[in-house]
Amino acid sequence: MAVLVQKYGGTSVGDAAKIRHVAERIAAARRAGNSIAVVVSAMGDTTDRLIDLAESISAAPDPRELDVLLSTGELVSCTLVTMALREIGEEAVSMSGAQAGIRTDTAHGSASIVEFDAERVQQALDAGRIVIVAGFQGVTHEMDVTTLGRGGSDTTAVALAAALGAERCEVYTDVDGIYTADPRIVPDARKLSEIGYEEMLELASYGAKMHPRSIELAAWYNTPVLVASSARDVPGTLIHEVAPEGEGMEVANKVRGVTYERGVARITLRAVPDRPGIAAAVFEPLAESNISVDTIVQNASAERLTDLSFTVDRSDLRSALEVTEGVAGTIGAGECVSHDNLGQVSIVGTGMQNAPGVAAVMFSALAEAGVNIEMITTSQIRITCVVDEAQVNDAVRTLHDAFELGEG
Ligand code: ASP
Ligand code: MG
Repeated sequence: MAVLVQKYGGTSVGDAAKIRHVAERIAAARRAGNSIAVVVSAMGDTTDRLIDLAESISAAPDPRELDVLLSTGELVSCTLVTMALREIGEEAVSMSGAQAGIRTDTAHGSASIVEFDAERVQQALDAGRIVIVAGFQGVTHEMDVTTLGRGGSDTTAVALAAALGAERCEVYTDVDGIYTADPRIVPDARKLSEIGYEEMLELASYGAKMHPRSIELAAWYNTPVLVASSARDVPGTLIHEVAPEGEGMEVANKVRGVTYERGVARITLRAVPDRPGIAAAVFEPLAESNISVDTIVQNASAERLTDLSFTVDRSDLRSALEVTEGVAGTIGAGECVSHDNLGQVSIVGTGMQNAPGVAAVMFSALAEAGVNIEMITTSQIRITCVVDEAQVNDAVRTLHDAFELGEG
């Protein structure tokens, strides 16, 4: 029997009626002759509420305790979905991440899966049961509960699909696929019927609403992921291995999608001595404090002093500043200045490799729209511009037009 893994996001299991609807869908897939394992997220905004609750008790909740607390959200939804299935006559069993065999490292709050022994899930499937696994969580070798980072249920689902050798992983959410841009900002955004792992990883890492680790895993194990709506029966987007496109495309066709993020903050460390080891001295302590740094720009030095700028998530700004100010003193740098009202827009497409025209189109489109570019970073298949947060929507629309991504 073919093994199918499905994942339902928080909105899809947001209340009792939706949970019953999800159970009907799972049962239908089961009756169609599949062996089914399901991963669920916590109901609605449960995780946010649990975080607020923890912060109302402690300004900096202990990471181990916080993970146990957050893991309960997914336990609630996975047991309820299981009960709903049993109500309609299906044999179903729930499992926590630990029971399902998910081992992680010890990075509380953003743990990585290091081992997935799906033996117990497989046995239950072999016995004809539907297995409902709590997403977003695992356990360390010491049996401490961990969580995988916000949105981590996607990763649980893809990891489960890979561990079971499933043909594909179906991710059902409140959006019905991957679009050329966020349809809430760009009304004529187009749904993509398919997209390659590489492009999807860039989109996910720079704003699209999927846990980037899930795409990394999907690519590694070559497990196709279908993103579709749980509410409406319309075709979704298949993320899978796509053959590279031919040469000689129009510049406009080289870009697959535009994505964005808000809540970006920048720290600039002025008058940094230009000598070996300085970057390490700045970024190692940030890494040790679990702060992830995104765009980094270091200017050419004038008189052996240089400015070093980097961006972090706005929620990390305060702790990043503390760390950086400490470092500034020890390496003899000047002042630290920060700016917290930034965002970023990115264009992504494998077609843009070695296509210098793409960057020129991006920059001139932003210039015409009066959007000032604060910083620029690139990968082989992505160009990202850091801009004023208030101009993010305009920038996204402008780029979507400039690369002719819309309908018609
Ligand atoms: N419930 C978790 C979150 O809100 C994990 C997930 O939904 O994937 O981030
Ligand atoms: Mg999600």
